Amino acid sequence: MTRKILVTSALPYANGAIHLGHLVEYIQTDIWVRFQKMRGHQCWYVCADDTHGTPIMLRAEQEGITPEALIERVHGEHTRDFAGFHIGFDNYYTTHSSETRACANEIYSRLRAAGLIETRTIEQYYDPLKQMFLPDRFIKGECPKCGAADQYGDNCESCGAAYTADELKNPYSAVSGARPELRRSEHFFFRLSDPRCQSFLRRWTQAEGRLQNEAANKLQEWLGTADENRLTDWDISRDAPYFGFEIPDAPGKYFYVWLDAPIGYMGAFRNLCDRLGLDFDEYWRPDSTTELYHFIGKDILYFHALFWPAELEHAGYRTPSKVFAHGFLTVDGAKMSKSRGTFITAASYLVQGLDPEWLRYYYAAKLGGSMEDIDLNLDDFIARVNSDLVGKFVNIASRSAAFIVRRFGGRLCTCDESLPAIAAIRERRRLIAEHYEAREFSKAIREIMALTDLANQYVDSVKPWELARQPGREGELQAACSNAINLFRLFAILLKPVLPALAAKTEDFLNVAPLVWDDTATVLAAGHVINGYQHMLTRVDKRQIDALLAANRESLATTPPVAPQKHAEHQEKAAAVAVAQAAVPTAAGPHIGIDDFLRSDLRIARISAAEQVEGADKLLRLLLDVGPLGTRQVFAGIKAAYDPAALVGRLTVMVANLAPRKMKFGMSEGMILAAADPDGAVAGIFLLAPDDGAQPGMRVR
Ligand SMILES: [Zn+2]
Repeated sequence: MTRKILVTSALPYANGAIHLGHLVEYIQTDIWVRFQKMRGHQCWYVCADDTHGTPIMLRAEQEGITPEALIERVHGEHTRDFAGFHIGFDNYYTTHSSETRACANEIYSRLRAAGLIETRTIEQYYDPLKQMFLPDRFIKGECPKCGAADQYGDNCESCGAAYTADELKNPYSAVSGARPELRRSEHFFFRLSDPRCQSFLRRWTQAEGRLQNEAANKLQEWLGTADENRLTDWDISRDAPYFGFEIPDAPGKYFYVWLDAPIGYMGAFRNLCDRLGLDFDEYWRPDSTTELYHFIGKDILYFHALFWPAELEHAGYRTPSKVFAHGFLTVDGAKMSKSRGTFITAASYLVQGLDPEWLRYYYAAKLGGSMEDIDLNLDDFIARVNSDLVGKFVNIASRSAAFIVRRFGGRLCTCDESLPAIAAIRERRRLIAEHYEAREFSKAIREIMALTDLANQYVDSVKPWELARQPGREGELQAACSNAINLFRLFAILLKPVLPALAAKTEDFLNVAPLVWDDTATVLAAGHVINGYQHMLTRVDKRQIDALLAANRESLATTPPVAPQKHAEHQEKAAAVAVAQAAVPTAAGPHIGIDDFLRSDLRIARISAAEQVEGADKLLRLLLDVGPLGTRQVFAGIKAAYDPAALVGRLTVMVANLAPRKMKFGMSEGMILAAADPDGAVAGIFLLAPDDGAQPGMRVR
């Protein structure tokens, strides 16, 4: 029976590059989808860029472009990278689409009609400079538990504590450095705590086979026992300014990016249906007999196994058949690291000339159906590709094809179907299919590689290269090579979900139609003529891996940090440390200890105001925004060198613990740092500026 299947991978966020960690999921999904298609099922694979939210808005602003321009550029990069790894989406779309908007509005209005949307006034941190509410990730401050500085508003990277943003000490906005204020705003909530959602989710998440056991257990934990109500309502709105979909009839209120991200699956499929004339409703109506699968990382289980099915159920749509969560990628046993060069982008892998099917094969050889993390061990990667893929598989063809082409005009003779290797393939192909279906790819690969051992034993026993040297044994040579080529064909079919490009080359070489799974039951007929053998796959050279790591280390050092354009001019003016208001010594004095130095509390400061001081020849009055330390007034002797208007917005360095000094014009609460030539040979005063990315209040040491 032909199944109708809709498959998704999680939507990558449209503000960064695809890396090898992302590719675990897309390769896993793609292998599964290709397998279904080879089995003759109607299987659609859709995905999209996740384009909304505050980070996209701010990133676009930093780059000086519109969010639309940013997401269009990133969409091009993502599409290119996925194509490079043979990820065969039927549609790779964007959440910033009329289709996704229509689906989001529809779901929202149906949930509201069902009484599952509620408005509530909440208090949230607001950036008075930037005039926007701040997501927790954009608030920093001191950890309330351990006191570590510059921690995010949701958890401490130093001690690991989790907390809410209003618990942070000395909070400041990571966007502008301003001290945030708590402000009230009306938000929209999806009432996940409603008894209808509770009882539905208890049933749904515990249904046989719906979730992996480890995921079902996690869900059980989140849901609690039947007499508990652990679910809390979900805040689905954000205030302007925001890049997203405005909520119908609620000006200035937007759907939170996580509301419309899974709806992007529907939007992408709607777009595909419109293009191909498919029936969208057949796949999404509540009584649909089609299958719907979401491949996701284990970190977003909460969204896909709680919010998403509850939304769909109560908005009158079908719910997912199954949710497949996978673990994270480590490289050489450790988290991907930019300093080690193991934070490898998809683009760099391709640009360095590595074969994408090496990685597809390696991931397949490691992936199972569980949520366990998988490790890309680079030595093991080289060994497996070279010994399994090239040594055991490709060599079967490369050792036999040339004889058939040169000596027999490409013509095969009868394949001996009683060979142990062929009999074993016929016996194991059903089991291998079951492994693919269950996403136990590592088991499928293990079976296939065990079978290649049998095939190689056969080739080694008949030794075509020796037969070729012995006159009068042409018949044996043609038979041996025909058998070997048939064996190669069978392995190419079994591996086609993993190695689609190699399969396409094989189809071309063998002069056959696109191979499907049932072709594992047949052999090529006597008299079939193959084309000339073309090169299939090279070995990995360790030097290529070294170059890849070096390229990813380098790209970290050479990639300019994304920064506001108005900061660009600062870098040109960075200068040596000196003190504008104090006497400048003409030579370095005696040594001091590090403790002496650290007694100076040097901080990054943003000049928020600058003006002339009436009656002062040399001084400018500056207001400095020092993040958590608040605003300081400083009188600086830089009037001769700087136009006050040009200083506003600049970052510089100040001494924050200098005793306040009462001057004729007012209190000076610190000092800014600038360089000057003490002999006056070089004219001018040069204010210090930090590199891009520094934030007001950061300690300089
Ligand atoms: Zn801490």
